Amino acid sequence: MKKKEFKSSSKRVLDLMINSIYTNKEIFLRELISNASDAEDKLVFKALTDSSIKTASSDLKIVIERDKDARILKITDNGIGMDEKELEENLGTIAESGSLKFKEENKDQNDTSIIGQFGVGFYSAFMIAKKVEVLSKKYNSEKAYKWVSEGTDGYTIDECDKKDIGTTIIMHLKDDTEDEKYSEYLEEYTIRNIVTKYSDYIKYPIMMEVENSRLKDGSKDEYETFKEMVTLNTMVPLWKKAKKDITEEEYNNFYSSRFGDYDKPLKVIHTNAEGLTSYKALLFVPSHAPFDYYYKEYKRGLELYTNGVLIMDKCEELVPEYYSFVKGVVDTDDLSLNISRETLQNDRHVIAIAKALESKIHSELKDMLENDFENYKKFFEAFGSQIKYGIYSTYGMNKDKLQDLLVFYSHEKQDLITLDEYVKNMKDGQEEIYYATGETTDKIDGLPQVEQIKNKGFDILYLTNYLDEFTVNALREFDGKKFKNAADSSLDLETEEEKKEINKINEDNKDMLKEIKEAIGDDIADVRFTKKLVNHPVCLTSEGDISASMEKVINAMPTDEKVNAKLVLEINESHSICNKLKELYKTDKEELKKYAKILYSEARLIEGLSIENPTQISNLICEIMAK
Ligand code: ADP
Repeated sequence: MKKKEFKSSSKRVLDLMINSIYTNKEIFLRELISNASDAEDKLVFKALTDSSIKTASSDLKIVIERDKDARILKITDNGIGMDEKELEENLGTIAESGSLKFKEENKDQNDTSIIGQFGVGFYSAFMIAKKVEVLSKKYNSEKAYKWVSEGTDGYTIDECDKKDIGTTIIMHLKDDTEDEKYSEYLEEYTIRNIVTKYSDYIKYPIMMEVENSRLKDGSKDEYETFKEMVTLNTMVPLWKKAKKDITEEEYNNFYSSRFGDYDKPLKVIHTNAEGLTSYKALLFVPSHAPFDYYYKEYKRGLELYTNGVLIMDKCEELVPEYYSFVKGVVDTDDLSLNISRETLQNDRHVIAIAKALESKIHSELKDMLENDFENYKKFFEAFGSQIKYGIYSTYGMNKDKLQDLLVFYSHEKQDLITLDEYVKNMKDGQEEIYYATGETTDKIDGLPQVEQIKNKGFDILYLTNYLDEFTVNALREFDGKKFKNAADSSLDLETEEEKKEINKINEDNKDMLKEIKEAIGDDIADVRFTKKLVNHPVCLTSEGDISASMEKVINAMPTDEKVNAKLVLEINESHSICNKLKELYKTDKEELKKYAKILYSEARLIEGLSIENPTQISNLICEIMAK
């Protein structure tokens, strides 16, 4: 049959594998065994509804064969198999391969770390093989097909003879070099080690013929060698083992082989329950967001086993949206094998397990927050947005379950703190939880409105994530204390006397302020003098529910919903610019208008907002400078 080209994206992944300098090449075996095990799982699942499948579950196995002379390593499963079309689709294309997409987005990283972070799948065979053949026969099919490739120049698919259903992967090993001894993958010792390390828990026997020796018949000291088939793995799923018998390395290996993430998980949650609903669960909190986490295609969910059969690999009913980062396995015997997605939703066991897991995840995260803060910060960096989203997307309905997991940057502590800690540290006379928003903590620290709060000796939260303000708005209050934006025009930290004084100044200068407001136009709701600023000439605050930064976020969203914050330009009444304004009001109203526009632009820039007419403003500044 004619040679076919790989899709260009697959070609690049393949290139990556063939020329890989990745030192951990042994993982190819884990990937192929994992595919074989999946294929067995799929056949078991099909057999639930298709009585024509005759394979008994006790016959399911994965066989590894070695031929040292021919330098061939074979892996055979008697799982579901692939037909011609599937060979083509599954092995000819890695259409939107995760690792490739990641590589494009992270061009600076070297290949090693990319391979290190993802399950690389079938193509990893090319790290050790110069030629790969895949012989496969699908469970309900008469014909078998053979896929052959020697790397990037393409592949062929032809009909072939194969008696049993299932798949055989034949790898022709690369030649040994100074640095790489590929022939070691033909040694019993190496294979045993790799299988024990990564695939011990696989629930189908992984079998291999090994050489053994025994006393010769009738002899007392003469030995003979003989060959026997042995099972290399213990086949006990990790989650069924007792916690005390599992090492951290075993958990980590299980996690990376199962979920394709080579970075250690931040938290392992191994839990089980007996009672009305019995289950075992092994859950992981990753240390970083998967590359596709913030894409629509990302699907949350846990693997669900019942009676030893994997019935769903992403059961989303088991974890709420705000914990969608949790990976793991749930095993229960309380569900029927042919439970459908629809009935699953209302199944009381599923509901009970989900509820128990949710509170377990919460308490484990809380535990990390209280006892392992450095790791918690990593967690929050990766998944804090999800927790925040969980709060604001439901208008605060879930706040009781999630608010104690929130941490924000505290000006006083110069680190993240919980809301509880903030409230406990509130000073005498402080009634509200203060926050300010901006792109970075440094930028927020320079905001004029923040100065007054700091001067009072109150702590203030610096919110740098665009979701933060929506989150605190959804919370409204914590422990009876309301949240207050430093840029809210109603923030009043002045004494009664100061307020009286400033009201009088505003009243006395009413006409001038009106003139300034008119010069700026419809952008702002009000212009007034203030006593809240110390060194800064101006600041921008807002009236009502929508702050300037919320306006920015909402209006940047790809929806038709646009909002307007009611902005107030506040001018520092003790700043020398005020005298200038008053003088201009008397002598040169045209000039006053220019000053007004410049001051307003300044206030916007300080807030991190853009200005609509930068050329006009820069011309105005030059005109004044040149005087
Ligand atoms: P992944 O396993 O991450 O989907 P792979 O590149 O390892 O990616 O495999 C691609 C697809 O090829 C699998 O999803 C599966 O459908 C199919 N496949 C691979 N190996 C086997 C096998 N031994 N038996 C049946 N199908 C297989």
